Amino acid sequence: MELVNPATGEPIGDVPLASVEEADAAIERAATAFETWRDVAPADRGRLLRAFAARIEAHADELAALEVRNSGHPIGNARWEAGNAAAVVDYYSAAPERLCGRQIPVAGGVDVTFHEPLGVVGIIVPWNFPMPIASWGFAPALAAGNTVVLKPAELTPLTALRLGELARDAGLPEHVFTVLPGAGPVVGQRFVTHPAVRKVCFTGSTTVGRQIMAGCAEQVKRVTLELGGKSANIVFADADVAAAAAAAPMSFCDNTGQDCCARTRILVQRGAYEPFLAALADALAAVRVGDPGAPDTQVGPLISAAHRDRVRSYVDGAEVLLRGAAPEGPGFWYPPTVLAGGAGTDRAWREEIFGPVASVLPFDTEADAIRLANDTAYGLSGSIWTRDLGRALRVSRGVRAGNLSVNSHSSVRYSTPFGGFGSSGLGRELGPDALAGFTETKNVFLAER
Ligand code: NAP
Ligand code: MG
Repeated sequence: MELVNPATGEPIGDVPLASVEEADAAIERAATAFETWRDVAPADRGRLLRAFAARIEAHADELAALEVRNSGHPIGNARWEAGNAAAVVDYYSAAPERLCGRQIPVAGGVDVTFHEPLGVVGIIVPWNFPMPIASWGFAPALAAGNTVVLKPAELTPLTALRLGELARDAGLPEHVFTVLPGAGPVVGQRFVTHPAVRKVCFTGSTTVGRQIMAGCAEQVKRVTLELGGKSANIVFADADVAAAAAAAPMSFCDNTGQDCCARTRILVQRGAYEPFLAALADALAAVRVGDPGAPDTQVGPLISAAHRDRVRSYVDGAEVLLRGAAPEGPGFWYPPTVLAGGAGTDRAWREEIFGPVASVLPFDTEADAIRLANDTAYGLSGSIWTRDLGRALRVSRGVRAGNLSVNSHSSVRYSTPFGGFGSSGLGRELGPDALAGFTETKNVFLAER
């Protein structure tokens, strides 16, 4: 696979893609490694994960630089991404010693539960957040005593490969954590069909996620799906409208909009619509799109030329209300864009664009806002801007989505659960309960005799 710097369009090197046979061999080595990894004492597993986290942190600048080159992420974002991977591993390093079962009162004996690891876990990672999304899967999986085979996206394998090396340097035993670059339909699909893989964690498109789930059904294989989104940003007239408008651009332009949590449907209460739009125009014009290596850059290029064509296809023919700036010339640049909100079957209003493009639509009542926010098959995240606490609670409960924020656009914290309703996915990652998704509960009754 030839890798390309998205900011320049220049090739940056090649990575060999694994074949089905190589995938099988890696899965079988991971299955053998599981037999000993599962029995490593909890304190030792925790210590190894802490050493791994420390390695990631010590190499964060190097990892960030790799991501700038391979993914075109602004250096500030890339540094955060490397730090997030370190923090996630550090957080779950405490889990092996806290993976407590229960003792349940029963007659005639003692009843206890155990959280048993599953075996080999296959993790399929997309190209939009290579390091964070990888770590959200492998950190809790390893902490719970599973071994991991991880397939990065073809376009962005470099940081995952480096994370695999850092795990070995930190002392994780061989084949406990294997990074296997390859094509989705080859290596990713083999995670679905190989019987030794007991769970698949998939992040990516809803179309592929649905196929993965159907494939996993054959073996009743566990699956976690983190899919797309078309999240609402609801701005009530009683809100700090200036603050809402100032925050809106980066809620859909961060990572060049290649973010499943992007707030791409902006719903503004009619009384605030004109002032909001005027302030949004200023805020959008101020977004700094450019050289990902420059420390003050906020938005870099899109991942590929093909993806830029796809993003552009949503804007062609739509009513453009606002357009920011982007560099000309080589690289896969696209300007921040705001469209007039549609309805019915309008593609740009209904589908995930995965670029720096949002639509804005006025609404009248609180009930209208909730109805419009829920008028989507997705349900990943969303924001509510209001000064009315009761309204904040009512709308938070009314919007069908897994991750909501009031008067901010925060979605992801490693210590809180993350995942979607409806077509946005199945299961939850991160937070205190993530290990439940990487273990089976075993109940044992010991008779008193
Ligand atoms: P995708 O095809 O779903 O790819 C995601 C991951 O799945 C990649 O590692 C991919 O491998 C792998 N894959 C592809 N086909 C597979 C298969 N048949 N079996 C197993 N694994 C498979 O997503 P995409 O094509 O990169 O992006 C398309 C759209 O999906 C985006 O524009 C966006 O709307 C959405 N998306 C959402 C997220 C998210 O965070 N939820 C992330 C990425 C994309 P390859 O690298 O070989 O393709
Ligand atoms: Mg694809």
